[in-house]
Amino acid sequence: MTDKKVALVTGGSRGIGRATCIELAKVGYTVLINYHENLEAAEETRKAVETCGAEAEICQADVSAKSHRDLLVAFMLERFGRVDLLVNCAGVAPAVRHDILETPEESFDHILSVNLRAVYFMTQRVANAMVGLTESGVIEGGAIVNISSLRSYTVAKNYGEYCISKAGVSMITKLFAVRLAEFGINVYEISPGIIKTDMTSADSVQEFYNKKIAQGMAPINRWGKPEEVGRAIAAIARGDFPFSTGEVFHVDGGWGLREL
Ligand code: NAP
Repeated sequence: MTDKKVALVTGGSRGIGRATCIELAKVGYTVLINYHENLEAAEETRKAVETCGAEAEICQADVSAKSHRDLLVAFMLERFGRVDLLVNCAGVAPAVRHDILETPEESFDHILSVNLRAVYFMTQRVANAMVGLTESGVIEGGAIVNISSLRSYTVAKNYGEYCISKAGVSMITKLFAVRLAEFGINVYEISPGIIKTDMTSADSVQEFYNKKIAQGMAPINRWGKPEEVGRAIAAIARGDFPFSTGEVFHVDGGWGLREL
């Protein structure tokens, strides 16, 4: 068993998940990098974590499948003997953006199974492990961070299933924050704005947001960087918010601010 704190980052192979793994390594965490299909990217994340002087392990799992989630958590506990932080970062966007009058049910089911259902049951599974580890004195409480999006409260008429999945993540955060407080486990929501990653790399998506930025989209009027999200998560991981739970941290350049 390691005496270092251990973080499980779902979707840690690329984008925000990778940046999170690196920022957690910088604040002294051992990191378990989960990926779905892209082993090469996960290996790159591992190298980057190790360059920061931290230990890392990789585990393939489709978080939308119960059997995979169970194996992922079993692997983590066998390999490290503890879990102090869960970051639910794995996420998908619809392959095709359909107007909500046309959303195919298959797309709705797929997006909700990865972005919502998996977050609920991953949180449930890891929370139960954390409670046991806390009661047996292996860890002193823990933290769970869920990655939502400005889409959890901002409508996109051609992105309905994604918006709904992220709105659900906001409620998962509140539910588990209330349920887990008695065990010293705090739960937080990180709500990123528009971040440059593979998820936003399609030409049509770039064009859309570049145009919005040119028109003055947000007070800090630019694309966000994955590491800016990762740094916010590392601040939580350091334990700097012991009297806060169920809170939303917006990492979006002030996008949600209203001006009149
Ligand atoms: P990304 O670059 O497309 O990376 C997605 C990550 O999720 C990859 O590591 C991928 O693994 C993993 N993944 C996908 N399906 C999975 C599954 N079924 N099981 C396990 N892992 C899976 O996306 P990103 O932009 O970094 O997004 C990360 C999170 O932030 C998502 O929840 C996303 O909704 C949210 N977010 C993103 C933005 C943005 O502007 N980029 C804004 C707000 C919120 P593989 O590498 O193996 O495919």
